[in-house]
Amino acid sequence: MEGEPIRARPAWSVHPDEWRALLVERGMRAFRADQILQALYRDWIQSWDEATTLPKDLRADLAREFPLAVPKVLASERADDGTTKLLLGLADGNSVETVVIPAGTAKSSDGRPGRLTQCISSQVGCAMGCAFCASGAKGLVRSLASDEIVAQVMCAQHLFATPENKRQGSGLCLTNLVVMGMGEPFANYDETMRALKILNAGKGPNLGARHITLSTCGVVPGFKRLAAEGLQFELSVSLHAPNDELRSQLMPVNRRWPIDELLAACREYTRETGRVITFEYTLVKGLNDSRACAEELVRRLKTLPSCKVNLIPLSPVDHRPDLATPDEATQLAFLDVLMKARIQTMLRRSRGKDVAAACGQLRLRTVKQA
Ligand code: SF4
Repeated sequence: MEGEPIRARPAWSVHPDEWRALLVERGMRAFRADQILQALYRDWIQSWDEATTLPKDLRADLAREFPLAVPKVLASERADDGTTKLLLGLADGNSVETVVIPAGTAKSSDGRPGRLTQCISSQVGCAMGCAFCASGAKGLVRSLASDEIVAQVMCAQHLFATPENKRQGSGLCLTNLVVMGMGEPFANYDETMRALKILNAGKGPNLGARHITLSTCGVVPGFKRLAAEGLQFELSVSLHAPNDELRSQLMPVNRRWPIDELLAACREYTRETGRVITFEYTLVKGLNDSRACAEELVRRLKTLPSCKVNLIPLSPVDHRPDLATPDEATQLAFLDVLMKARIQTMLRRSRGKDVAAACGQLRLRTVKQA
C-alpha cells in the first residue's frame, strides 16, 4: 500500500455496506467483502484466524487493518429463571454490563422458538444520576465506541447460540435487543446509532428494527434526531414520576428537560413517525406509587395520541437502601387506574432477581471489590 497510512478501523464498527470501499481503499480485493461478512456475521468469528475461507496473508492484513477486540467475560451470574448478567472487560481496562434474558426455552412446548432478549450498554457508567440506578452511582467514565456496543452482541452470540441457531438463516440467537443497560444512548447518539444500524443490516446480524428498542431518560434533542433517521426502532422513555417535583428528585435530567418539554417531544415524535412510545415507570414505595400519582400520570399521558406504559416494581439498589419496592396490592391498584383509563399497561415482573438485577449493580460490586 502506498501514500499516507490509513488508520486501522475496528471490524465491528464497519457497516456491511462499507466493506467493499474500505477494502479497495487499502488495496485489497472488493469481492472479499462477501466472504468477510460471512465470516463475521454467519460464522461469528472472534479472531481473523478463524476465517479459514480467506487466504492466510489476507487474514493477517485484516487483523492489522480491521482488528477484532473481543471483550473478556470478567464476571457472570445466572439467575434461576435463566437471566444471565455478564460483566465484560474492554481493551482499556474499563468494563460494561450486559444481560441476556430468555423468555421460554429455546423451543416452547407449542413448538415456537423462545425469545432471547439482550440488554446492552451504551456507555461506561452514566452521567444522568437517576436515584434508583447503580450505573449512575459513580458517574460517567466514557462513552462506548460503536464496535464496543456491537461486541456485546457478538459475545452473547458466542455464549448463547445453539446448533439450531446456526442452522437458521442469519443464525443470530437473539430475538430482541434493548439499549437499556449502562449509559444514556442519546448522550452517545452517533456511536449508538452506528452500532444499531450495523446490527440491523441485512448482510450483518440482520436483527429486525422493530426488535430493537432504544431507551432514554428524556434527553430531548435525541427525539428529533431519531425521528429524522426514518428507522423503525422502538423508543422507550423512562418517566418514573407524573410531576416535576417528584421526577426531579428521582431523575436530575428532569431539571434540564422538565416533563412538559419531554412530553411535547414525545408528541412530536409520535406525530412524525407514527410510532408508539413506551413509558417506563418504576414504582418506588411511598414515593410515586399512590393512587393520586397514578391519576396524575393518566392526565399527563392522555395528552399523547397513543402510548404504552410498563410498570416496573423497583429492584432495590445497594447505594439507596431508603428506596423500597411497593407491595403487590399497591402495584395492582396503580395498574388498575391506568387500565381503567384505557392506557395499555404491563406490570413487569423483575427478571433475574438473584443476579444483581438492577442495571450497573454487578459492575459496581465488582469495581468495589477490585
Ligand atoms: S437509569 Fe439509565 S439514564 Fe439513569 S443513571 Fe441509570 S443508566 Fe443512566
